[in-house]
Amino acid sequence: MTVFYCAKCGTALTGDLPALPSVPDIDDPDAGRDEKTGQARSTVPRGHYAIDPDPWGAPFVPAPAPRQPARASGRELLRSASGATDSAGPRNSAVLHPDDVMPRLTPFTCGDNWTGCCGPTGAHGPNLACTCGSRLATWAADCLGPNELHLDPVRVYAWPQSEATEAAQRPIGVPEELSRPVEESRKRE
Ligand SMILES: [Zn+2]
Repeated sequence: MTVFYCAKCGTALTGDLPALPSVPDIDDPDAGRDEKTGQARSTVPRGHYAIDPDPWGAPFVPAPAPRQPARASGRELLRSASGATDSAGPRNSAVLHPDDVMPRLTPFTCGDNWTGCCGPTGAHGPNLACTCGSRLATWAADCLGPNELHLDPVRVYAWPQSEATEAAQRPIGVPEELSRPVEESRKRE
């Protein structure tokens, strides 16, 4: 179980989430896509997170050519010159269900970062910030492509909350809900 915090101000960005062993396969991002909003089903189910070991998001660099087209994972971001570029974005970003993080983040506009049809493509850099202003998350939610929110591994830190350490940190007799970090209880108010 892990809580993600803003590395700049220490605000808790998520609840206590269990890890998935890997980022789930999507295969077909249009399966289950919402007809009204155009959003795909979230890659990661509600209440979980997964670490993406591969580079994700902006910037993109020319792909080495020639090569066989890789099997589509269903998680490709819509962008111009698609197929000719590879992500040179950060590895090991945390992928979460947008609803687990969005209420604690603020959209901001910078260049093309909200470009998309029904939502941001996620291919133009971070588009969500902590309340302190740190631009630490990118949300992809266009009607072509996946629906996933990535936390920048440099701008957040993860604090494992194993049952053993939780029990050790909590004074005896204090209920779990009263011993949570101050930032998190503040954010819930
Ligand atoms: Zn912050």
